[in-house]
Amino acid sequence: MTSSSTRPLVDTFGRTVSYLRISVTDRCDFRCVYCMSEHMSFLPKKDLLTLEELDRVASAFVERGTTKLRITGGEPLVRRNVMSLFRALSRHLASGALKELTLTTNGSQLARYAAELADIGVRRVNVSLDTLDADTFKRITRWGDLGRVMEGLNAAKAAGLKVKINMVALQNANAHEIEPMLRFCHGEGHDLTLIETMPLGEIEEDRTDQYLPLSAVRAGLQERYTLTDLPDSTGGPARYVQVAETGGRIGFITPLTHNFCESCNRVRLNCTGTLYLCLGQDHAVDLREPLRASESNEALHAAIDRGMVIKPKGHDFVIERRGAGPAVSRHMSSTGG
Ligand code: SAM
Ligand code: SF4
Repeated sequence: MTSSSTRPLVDTFGRTVSYLRISVTDRCDFRCVYCMSEHMSFLPKKDLLTLEELDRVASAFVERGTTKLRITGGEPLVRRNVMSLFRALSRHLASGALKELTLTTNGSQLARYAAELADIGVRRVNVSLDTLDADTFKRITRWGDLGRVMEGLNAAKAAGLKVKINMVALQNANAHEIEPMLRFCHGEGHDLTLIETMPLGEIEEDRTDQYLPLSAVRAGLQERYTLTDLPDSTGGPARYVQVAETGGRIGFITPLTHNFCESCNRVRLNCTGTLYLCLGQDHAVDLREPLRASESNEALHAAIDRGMVIKPKGHDFVIERRGAGPAVSRHMSSTGG
């Protein structure tokens, strides 16, 4: 019989979980309008898992067949000493158990860390960038500086990291910038992924003013470019197309216009050790208590197994009623995007 610590993670719908996203902090040096409110209250630092505890949970997942880890946040590169976590986790790359160790970042600290990340074994990085205009960048991120992100992108390229740009498509802010962004990204050799806004957490703006359905964006692009569908390779919500004219790829993440849940292969750990089984639902198990209860991982594995039992079939996001509240109260920055 296989022991619980080596049994693969399969949920009640037969989906194998092989991808863990870890939010290492809920804090951030930006305040993007679709992600956070301007005055956020953050978790007390004492509630956070230590970097060693995060390593222990991630390693337990790797034992159970997780082949992809994404470090995210909040802004992962503002967590003190986060490079030591990357370095520790890279032993699973060396052993061959892990196929990919990667991160999603706003790019503000990338100039400082890109070379070190590449040295550790990170091959690809997702950088969020919603506009190429410095004023619009300030308006969307509230606190960000476009110049620093551009320096970060240059450093990533120089370090040999493959870059994917994440752009949240916002009706009221950057709808007209999608094509310039496409040309910029593909000119630089970066992939571009467009994301629909998701109703996560209370923010100041009304999400109906932000929401831009990507089906309409794609139809518009199709009038000017030759788009060819690429086969799905991620098990995730992104659908990719090849653009003949630029030679690059665009992904569309459409949680609201396309249901991707049937192929979901991922779960999310927040920085306090809560394991969320779905981005758009509240189903969760606590891993911190079993982690701290004993040095053995038995209780931790049992808690992860309970997570597999309650992983929901899918989310039910809708953004249609003006003034409607979020689908779940937690912000994307606390669960990790
Ligand atoms: N701070 C990092 C960053 O911005 O890349 C990592 C965390 S951030 C929460 C991860 C991704 O989620 C970013 O690409 C961001 O644009 C996206 N995001 C945040 N809130 C969102 C929302 N309500 N709907 C859709 N995407 C969102
Ligand atoms: Fe920070 Fe990323 Fe959220 Fe922007 S999207 S506020 S950069 S966590």
